[in-house]
Amino acid sequence: MSRFHEARFLISAAAPAQFPVDVGAEVAFVGRSNSGKSSAINAIVQRRALARTSKTPGRTRLLNFFELAPLRRLVDLPGYGYASVPEVERRAWLPLIDALRTRASLKGLFVIADSRRGLTPADQGLLEWALPGHRVHVLLSKADKLNRGEGAAVLRAAAAILSGRATAQLFSALKGTGVAQAQDTLAVWLA
Ligand code: GDP
Repeated sequence: MSRFHEARFLISAAAPAQFPVDVGAEVAFVGRSNSGKSSAINAIVQRRALARTSKTPGRTRLLNFFELAPLRRLVDLPGYGYASVPEVERRAWLPLIDALRTRASLKGLFVIADSRRGLTPADQGLLEWALPGHRVHVLLSKADKLNRGEGAAVLRAAAAILSGRATAQLFSALKGTGVAQAQDTLAVWLA
């Protein structure tokens, strides 16, 4: 299943009632705005523009569900970190995120973090969001911007912060670095 040939957009959910039926397995992708999340999703599912829907103005606060295989889903969470997001919008999507968290289908979380920034406190907060049974995997994105030594240092720093609570890897949608590793991790979680 690691090639995700059948990947297709399912629904943009504005309310928990619109979520797909809670059977099977799903993995959520989250990262601050501009972290490279959409590019990572497209690289992993090998679609040039699967995750573009989430960028459409007005839809950035929605949860986008994609079906990778029958009853196997990827959930694209809204990018966080826009200081300008009005409080009223924030209040609207927090219940969405909370409803997602308690779904039986949710197996874990991919956190996308720009490798030049490393893990921010907000990224680290996601580890608290994850429930004890959830797995967390960090993609240190845009790794093509770092040389080998810098990449190794960023990975070590992330591993120290995560201290066994999550796994991490270097990732570049642009160069394809780490795409196979990310696909394998996702496929195992969804199996
Ligand atoms: P999102 O807002 O988190 O969904 O991020 P996008 O996927 O839209 O990417 C944000 C910006 O980072 C865009 O300008 C992308 O071209 C760039 N970007 C994304 N992935 C990579 C990568 O692997 N390498 C480099 N150099 N740039 C990237």
